[in-house]
Amino acid sequence: MKICVLVKEVPDAAVEKRIDPSTGRMDRSSEKNLNPYDTHAIEAAMALREGGVMQVDEIVAVTMGPGSAVRALHKAVSLGADRSLHLTDDALAGSDVAATGYALAKALESEQPDLVLLGQQSDDGECYTIGAVLADHLKMPSLTQVIKMDVDGDGLRCERQAEYGYDTVQLTMPAVISVGDAINEPRYPSLKAIMGAKKKPLRTAGLADLGIERSLVGEEGSRVQCGDFHDPPAKAAGQIIEDEDTNETVEKIVAWLDQRKLI
Ligand SMILES: Cc1cc2nc3c(=O)[nH]c(=O)nc-3n(C[C@H](O)[C@H](O)[C@H](O)COP(=O)(O)OP(=O)(O)OC[C@H]3O[C@@H](n4cnc5c(N)ncnc54)[C@H](O)[C@@H]3O)c2cc1C
Repeated sequence: MKICVLVKEVPDAAVEKRIDPSTGRMDRSSEKNLNPYDTHAIEAAMALREGGVMQVDEIVAVTMGPGSAVRALHKAVSLGADRSLHLTDDALAGSDVAATGYALAKALESEQPDLVLLGQQSDDGECYTIGAVLADHLKMPSLTQVIKMDVDGDGLRCERQAEYGYDTVQLTMPAVISVGDAINEPRYPSLKAIMGAKKKPLRTAGLADLGIERSLVGEEGSRVQCGDFHDPPAKAAGQIIEDEDTNETVEKIVAWLDQRKLI
């Protein structure tokens, strides 16, 4: 069985997110990292391999992104993927979620995976949608928010977290599954794996290599149009109550809360 795991390079969580007003896109010039939600997808692939019930021949990490996104692939490989595929092309810049899903689906078609795993959300766009877009293009069943995955015969028995409780779903493969972050505790890469990651096979592909239509990606192929952006209004300075007499301080806090009908 071949598993493809989608991974994305995102701005580091510690960096404040901002939209570049000149392009209408997120400013991605800051420090970047592997999307933390995707480490759960890699771990889920490793759990299937190490579980020993289903033979997993290959785990392939797949990303779409600029040159720097190769670092996310190295991290994915250090966490257990056998090799990676980097879809990169200047024409992809400015792709919205539908265009990104289409391009990633074309990349996946070239790999013919039995199972596609991805994170529940990216830490920057937070659309939660790529899995569904991919499944539509690939004509595969799609499950989201999966927090338990067991091999059952030729398929998988999955538990998904819903607002009303849990669904248990029997799934035949090939399929696209986005995993919730409650599914597992991702491992840390070993020093040896980090050092060896750059030596693992990496395939780099552009639009022409994968038969991606230029008119369906990038700004031209994106129907989402970003309008005006404003910074959130500045917050008024808070009130600081210095504690000299605790009883008095408590009375002041209670009065403050009472005025605002918070108690
Ligand atoms: C007008 C517009 C222009 C944009 N321009 C750009 C741009 O120039 N560059 C850019 O990077 N983004 C751009 N974006 C954002 C981009 O469209 C989204 O990042 C993308 O659609 C995926 O949405 P998401 O990240 O919210 O994914 P979600 O659906 O929240 O992510 C779920 C999972 O999908 C997988 N995934 C998501 N994106 C990728 C990826 N690229 N490669 C591999 N796996 C992935 C990950 O496993 C992730 O955990 C643009 C968006 C808009 C609306």
